[in-house]
Amino acid sequence: MRIWIAGLLALLLAACSEPDSPAVDSGESGEASTPVVVDEADSAYYDQLRARWLELEHADRAAAAQTLEPEPEILSQPLPESAPITPVIDAAAIPAIAIIIDDVGHSLAQGRRLIALPVPVALAILPHTPAAQRLAEEAGAAGKTVMLHQPMENGAGLSIGPGGLYVGMPRAELEQVLQGNLNSFVPIQGINNHMGSRLTAEREAMDWVMRVLRERGLFFIDSRTTSETQAAFAAEAAGVRHLSRDVFLDNQRTPQAIDAAFNRALVLARRQGSALIIGHPYAQTLDYLEQRLADDLLHSEGVEVVSVEELLARKYRR
Ligand SMILES: [Zn+2]
Repeated sequence: MRIWIAGLLALLLAACSEPDSPAVDSGESGEASTPVVVDEADSAYYDQLRARWLELEHADRAAAAQTLEPEPEILSQPLPESAPITPVIDAAAIPAIAIIIDDVGHSLAQGRRLIALPVPVALAILPHTPAAQRLAEEAGAAGKTVMLHQPMENGAGLSIGPGGLYVGMPRAELEQVLQGNLNSFVPIQGINNHMGSRLTAEREAMDWVMRVLRERGLFFIDSRTTSETQAAFAAEAAGVRHLSRDVFLDNQRTPQAIDAAFNRALVLARRQGSALIIGHPYAQTLDYLEQRLADDLLHSEGVEVVSVEELLARKYRR
Protein backbone atom coordinates (compact mmCIF):
# COMPACT_ATOMS: atom_id res chain seq x y z
CA MET A 1 0.00 0.00 0.00
CA ARG A 2 2.75 2.41 1.00
CA ILE A 3 4.56 1.71 -2.23
CA TRP A 4 1.34 2.29 -4.15
CA ILE A 5 0.80 5.73 -2.51
CA ALA A 6 4.42 6.71 -3.07
CA GLY A 7 4.00 5.77 -6.71
CA LEU A 8 0.85 7.87 -6.97
CA LEU A 9 2.61 10.87 -5.41
CA ALA A 10 5.49 10.53 -7.79
CA LEU A 11 3.06 10.48 -10.71
CA LEU A 12 1.26 13.58 -9.41
CA LEU A 13 4.54 15.45 -8.98
CA ALA A 14 5.60 14.53 -12.45
CA ALA A 15 2.27 15.73 -13.85
CA CYS A 16 2.53 19.02 -11.94
CA SER A 17 5.99 19.71 -13.27
CA GLU A 18 4.94 19.29 -16.93
CA PRO A 19 3.42 22.75 -17.49
CA ASP A 20 6.72 24.38 -16.53
CA SER A 21 8.67 22.61 -19.19
CA PRO A 22 8.99 24.58 -22.44
CA ALA A 23 6.35 23.82 -25.06
CA VAL A 24 8.20 22.13 -27.85
CA ASP A 25 6.78 21.25 -31.19
CA SER A 26 8.02 17.72 -31.54
CA GLY A 27 6.00 17.08 -34.64
CA GLU A 28 4.29 14.27 -32.81
CA SER A 29 1.57 16.31 -31.17
CA GLY A 30 -2.01 15.17 -31.42
CA GLU A 31 -2.86 18.66 -32.70
CA ALA A 32 -0.90 18.17 -35.86
CA SER A 33 -3.93 18.46 -38.09
CA THR A 34 -5.20 21.82 -36.76
CA PRO A 35 -3.33 24.57 -38.65
CA VAL A 36 -4.68 27.34 -36.42
CA VAL A 37 -1.58 28.19 -34.45
CA VAL A 38 1.75 28.42 -36.17
CA ASP A 39 4.51 28.46 -33.63
CA GLU A 40 7.57 30.67 -33.92
CA ALA A 41 9.75 28.00 -35.44
CA ASP A 42 7.19 27.29 -38.15
CA SER A 43 6.64 30.98 -38.72
CA ALA A 44 10.35 31.59 -39.26
CA TYR A 45 10.48 28.56 -41.51
CA TYR A 46 7.66 29.88 -43.68
CA ASP A 47 9.14 33.36 -43.76
CA GLN A 48 12.32 31.88 -45.17
CA LEU A 49 10.43 29.68 -47.57
CA ARG A 50 8.25 32.54 -48.75
CA ALA A 51 11.27 34.79 -49.28
CA ARG A 52 12.80 32.06 -51.44
CA TRP A 53 9.60 31.60 -53.40
CA LEU A 54 9.38 35.32 -54.01
CA GLU A 55 12.92 35.37 -55.29
CA LEU A 56 12.29 32.49 -57.62
CA GLU A 57 9.09 34.11 -58.86
CA HIS A 58 10.89 37.35 -59.48
CA ALA A 59 13.74 35.87 -61.44
CA ASP A 60 13.25 34.76 -65.02
CA ARG A 61 12.56 31.07 -64.82
CA ALA A 62 15.40 30.21 -67.15
CA ALA A 63 17.83 32.42 -65.26
CA ALA A 64 16.69 30.98 -61.97
CA ALA A 65 17.29 27.47 -63.20
CA GLN A 66 20.77 28.44 -64.31
CA THR A 67 21.87 30.46 -61.34
CA LEU A 68 20.23 28.81 -58.40
CA GLU A 69 22.38 25.70 -58.42
CA PRO A 70 22.78 23.92 -56.19
CA GLU A 71 19.15 23.98 -55.14
CA PRO A 72 18.57 26.40 -52.27
CA GLU A 73 18.91 24.54 -49.01
CA ILE A 74 15.57 25.73 -47.71
CA LEU A 75 13.65 24.18 -50.61
CA SER A 76 15.27 20.81 -50.13
CA GLN A 77 14.37 20.65 -46.44
CA PRO A 78 11.37 18.45 -45.64
CA LEU A 79 8.30 20.17 -44.25
CA PRO A 80 7.93 19.82 -40.48
CA GLU A 81 5.53 16.96 -39.81
CA SER A 82 3.13 19.12 -37.85
CA ALA A 83 2.93 21.83 -40.50
CA PRO A 84 -0.12 22.39 -42.68
CA ILE A 85 0.60 21.86 -46.38
CA THR A 86 -0.40 25.40 -47.32
CA PRO A 87 1.22 28.24 -45.36
CA VAL A 88 -1.56 30.09 -43.56
CA ILE A 89 0.36 32.91 -41.91
CA ASP A 90 0.28 35.29 -44.90
CA ALA A 91 -3.29 34.67 -45.92
CA ALA A 92 -4.46 37.97 -44.49
CA ALA A 93 -1.75 40.09 -46.12
CA ILE A 94 -3.13 42.65 -48.53
CA PRO A 95 -1.51 42.54 -51.99
CA ALA A 96 0.89 45.47 -52.37
CA ILE A 97 2.78 47.31 -55.07
CA ALA A 98 5.71 49.67 -54.68
CA ILE A 99 6.72 52.19 -57.34
CA ILE A 100 10.22 53.51 -58.07
CA ILE A 101 10.78 56.29 -60.60
CA ASP A 102 14.31 56.21 -62.06
CA ASP A 103 16.50 58.72 -63.84
CA VAL A 104 15.39 61.58 -61.59
CA GLY A 105 17.64 64.62 -61.03
CA HIS A 106 17.70 66.46 -64.33
CA SER A 107 14.46 68.36 -63.82
CA LEU A 108 13.22 69.98 -60.62
CA ALA A 109 9.69 70.26 -62.03
CA GLN A 110 9.46 66.56 -62.92
CA GLY A 111 10.81 65.55 -59.53
CA ARG A 112 8.34 67.78 -57.73
CA ARG A 113 5.43 66.17 -59.57
CA LEU A 114 6.60 62.82 -58.17
CA ILE A 115 6.96 64.21 -54.67
CA ALA A 116 3.40 65.56 -54.90
CA LEU A 117 1.90 62.13 -55.70
CA PRO A 118 -0.48 61.06 -52.93
CA VAL A 119 1.18 57.66 -52.43
CA PRO A 120 4.66 56.53 -51.33
CA VAL A 121 6.71 56.65 -54.53
CA ALA A 122 10.51 56.31 -54.43
CA LEU A 123 12.71 58.76 -56.34
CA ALA A 124 15.84 57.10 -57.74
CA ILE A 125 18.17 60.03 -58.37
CA LEU A 126 21.14 60.02 -60.75
CA PRO A 127 24.36 61.27 -59.14
CA HIS A 128 25.85 64.62 -60.10
CA THR A 129 22.66 65.88 -61.74
CA PRO A 130 21.60 69.51 -61.29
CA ALA A 131 18.50 68.92 -59.15
CA ALA A 132 19.78 65.92 -57.19
CA GLN A 133 20.36 67.53 -53.79
CA ARG A 134 17.30 69.76 -53.91
CA LEU A 135 14.97 66.91 -54.86
CA ALA A 136 16.50 64.52 -52.33
CA GLU A 137 15.87 67.04 -49.55
CA GLU A 138 12.34 67.85 -50.64
CA ALA A 139 11.44 64.20 -51.17
CA GLY A 140 12.90 63.24 -47.81
CA ALA A 141 10.99 66.03 -46.09
CA ALA A 142 7.78 64.85 -47.78
CA GLY A 143 8.32 61.30 -46.52
CA LYS A 144 9.16 59.87 -49.93
CA THR A 145 11.91 57.26 -50.31
CA VAL A 146 15.15 58.55 -51.84
CA MET A 147 17.52 56.26 -53.69
CA LEU A 148 20.80 56.62 -55.53
CA HIS A 149 20.25 55.52 -59.13
CA GLN A 150 23.73 54.10 -59.65
CA PRO A 151 24.93 54.13 -63.28
CA MET A 152 26.48 50.80 -64.32
CA GLU A 153 28.01 49.71 -67.59
CA ASN A 154 25.59 48.31 -70.14
CA GLY A 155 26.22 45.83 -72.92
CA ALA A 156 25.13 48.17 -75.70
CA GLY A 157 27.93 50.69 -75.21
CA LEU A 158 25.47 53.47 -74.30
CA SER A 159 26.73 56.41 -72.25
CA ILE A 160 25.80 56.08 -68.58
CA GLY A 161 26.77 59.56 -67.43
CA PRO A 162 28.97 60.67 -64.53
CA GLY A 163 29.59 58.44 -61.51
CA GLY A 164 29.45 55.23 -63.55
CA LEU A 165 30.84 51.84 -62.56
CA TYR A 166 32.52 49.77 -65.26
CA VAL A 167 33.70 46.21 -65.80
CA GLY A 168 37.43 45.97 -65.17
CA MET A 169 37.55 48.79 -62.62
CA PRO A 170 39.89 47.85 -59.77
CA ARG A 171 38.07 47.37 -56.47
CA ALA A 172 39.50 50.51 -54.87
CA GLU A 173 38.39 52.67 -57.79
CA LEU A 174 34.92 51.12 -57.92
CA GLU A 175 34.46 51.73 -54.20
CA GLN A 176 35.74 55.28 -54.48
CA VAL A 177 33.29 56.15 -57.27
CA LEU A 178 30.38 54.50 -55.45
CA GLN A 179 31.21 56.20 -52.14
CA GLY A 180 31.53 59.52 -53.97
CA ASN A 181 28.04 59.07 -55.43
CA LEU A 182 26.61 58.07 -52.06
CA ASN A 183 28.13 61.22 -50.56
CA SER A 184 26.86 63.49 -53.33
CA PHE A 185 23.37 64.04 -51.88
CA VAL A 186 21.32 63.24 -48.78
CA PRO A 187 19.24 61.45 -47.71
CA ILE A 188 19.76 58.07 -49.42
CA GLN A 189 17.95 54.95 -48.22
CA GLY A 190 19.02 52.51 -50.89
CA ILE A 191 20.23 52.15 -54.46
CA ASN A 192 19.24 50.58 -57.74
CA ASN A 193 21.13 50.19 -60.99
CA HIS A 194 20.83 52.58 -63.93
CA MET A 195 21.32 50.35 -67.02
CA GLY A 196 24.02 47.86 -65.93
CA SER A 197 23.26 44.91 -68.20
CA ARG A 198 27.02 44.28 -68.41
CA LEU A 199 28.20 45.10 -64.90
CA THR A 200 25.39 43.41 -62.95
CA ALA A 201 26.34 40.11 -64.62
CA GLU A 202 29.79 40.37 -62.98
CA ARG A 203 29.54 38.66 -59.61
CA GLU A 204 32.82 39.98 -58.21
CA ALA A 205 31.96 43.60 -58.95
CA MET A 206 28.50 43.07 -57.45
CA ASP A 207 30.12 41.61 -54.32
CA TRP A 208 32.21 44.78 -53.99
CA VAL A 209 29.14 46.99 -54.42
CA MET A 210 27.17 45.03 -51.83
CA ARG A 211 29.98 45.25 -49.29
CA VAL A 212 29.72 49.04 -49.43
CA LEU A 213 25.93 48.94 -49.10
CA ARG A 214 26.18 46.56 -46.16
CA GLU A 215 28.56 48.90 -44.36
CA ARG A 216 26.21 51.82 -44.93
CA GLY A 217 23.05 49.91 -44.07
CA LEU A 218 21.47 50.58 -47.48
CA PHE A 219 19.10 48.33 -49.41
CA PHE A 220 19.52 47.27 -53.04
CA ILE A 221 16.91 47.03 -55.79
CA ASP A 222 17.92 45.04 -58.85
CA SER A 223 16.45 46.81 -61.87
CA ARG A 224 17.00 43.54 -63.76
CA THR A 225 18.25 44.92 -67.03
CA THR A 226 19.61 41.46 -67.89
CA SER A 227 18.47 37.96 -67.00
CA GLU A 228 22.15 37.22 -66.29
CA THR A 229 22.18 39.59 -63.33
CA GLN A 230 24.11 38.44 -60.29
CA ALA A 231 23.14 41.43 -58.17
CA ALA A 232 20.43 39.78 -56.07
CA PHE A 233 22.65 36.80 -55.32
CA ALA A 234 25.52 39.07 -54.30
CA ALA A 235 23.16 41.08 -52.09
CA GLU A 236 21.85 37.92 -50.47
CA ALA A 237 25.39 36.67 -49.80
CA ALA A 238 26.44 40.01 -48.30
CA GLY A 239 23.38 40.26 -46.06
CA VAL A 240 22.03 43.30 -47.91
CA ARG A 241 18.22 43.60 -47.96
CA HIS A 242 17.12 43.49 -51.58
CA LEU A 243 14.23 43.22 -54.01
CA SER A 244 14.03 42.81 -57.76
CA ARG A 245 12.00 44.74 -60.30
CA ASP A 246 8.90 42.94 -61.56
CA VAL A 247 7.49 45.34 -64.16
CA PHE A 248 8.88 48.22 -66.23
CA LEU A 249 6.00 50.67 -66.43
CA ASP A 250 6.87 52.65 -69.53
CA ASN A 251 9.02 50.71 -71.98
CA GLN A 252 6.41 52.00 -74.44
CA ARG A 253 5.33 55.55 -73.72
CA THR A 254 1.69 55.41 -74.75
CA PRO A 255 -1.11 55.70 -72.18
CA GLN A 256 -2.46 52.32 -73.31
CA ALA A 257 0.89 50.54 -72.90
CA ILE A 258 1.55 52.19 -69.52
CA ASP A 259 -1.92 51.21 -68.34
CA ALA A 260 -1.38 47.61 -69.49
CA ALA A 261 1.94 47.43 -67.63
CA PHE A 262 0.40 48.89 -64.46
CA ASN A 263 -2.45 46.39 -64.60
CA ARG A 264 0.04 43.57 -65.10
CA ALA A 265 1.68 44.64 -61.84
CA LEU A 266 -1.69 44.50 -60.07
CA VAL A 267 -2.25 40.96 -61.34
CA LEU A 268 1.23 39.96 -60.16
CA ALA A 269 0.64 41.53 -56.76
CA ARG A 270 -2.57 39.58 -56.31
CA ARG A 271 -0.85 36.40 -57.39
CA GLN A 272 2.42 36.63 -55.46
CA GLY A 273 1.53 39.09 -52.70
CA SER A 274 3.57 42.01 -54.02
CA ALA A 275 5.00 43.56 -57.17
CA LEU A 276 7.72 46.14 -57.71
CA ILE A 277 7.26 48.64 -60.53
CA ILE A 278 9.98 50.81 -62.07
CA GLY A 279 9.06 53.76 -64.25
CA HIS A 280 10.67 56.94 -65.57
CA PRO A 281 9.80 60.63 -65.29
CA TYR A 282 8.35 60.87 -68.81
CA ALA A 283 5.43 63.24 -69.25
CA GLN A 284 3.18 60.30 -70.19
CA THR A 285 4.17 58.35 -67.07
CA LEU A 286 3.67 61.33 -64.76
CA ASP A 287 0.28 62.08 -66.32
CA TYR A 288 -0.75 58.47 -65.91
CA LEU A 289 0.37 58.15 -62.29
CA GLU A 290 -1.26 61.43 -61.29
CA GLN A 291 -4.54 60.23 -62.71
CA ARG A 292 -4.39 56.58 -61.63
CA LEU A 293 -3.11 57.18 -58.12
CA ALA A 294 -5.70 59.87 -57.42
CA ASP A 295 -8.14 56.97 -56.90
CA ASP A 296 -7.88 54.86 -53.81
CA LEU A 297 -6.27 51.79 -55.35
CA LEU A 298 -6.98 49.71 -52.28
CA HIS A 299 -10.67 50.50 -52.61
CA SER A 300 -10.91 50.07 -56.38
CA GLU A 301 -8.45 47.22 -56.97
CA GLY A 302 -7.87 45.64 -53.57
CA VAL A 303 -4.16 46.41 -53.91
CA GLU A 304 -2.24 48.72 -51.61
CA VAL A 305 0.51 51.11 -52.75
CA VAL A 306 3.32 50.87 -50.19
CA SER A 307 6.84 52.23 -49.88
CA VAL A 308 9.84 50.20 -51.00
CA GLU A 309 10.83 49.94 -47.33
CA GLU A 310 7.44 48.44 -46.49
CA LEU A 311 7.85 45.88 -49.25
CA LEU A 312 11.30 45.04 -47.85
CA ALA A 313 9.84 44.80 -44.35
CA ARG A 314 7.21 42.35 -45.58
CA LYS A 315 9.95 40.24 -47.14
CA TYR A 316 12.27 40.34 -44.14
CA ARG A 317 9.61 40.55 -41.45
CA ARG A 318 11.13 43.50 -39.60
ZN1 LIG B 1 18.01 54.54 -65.30
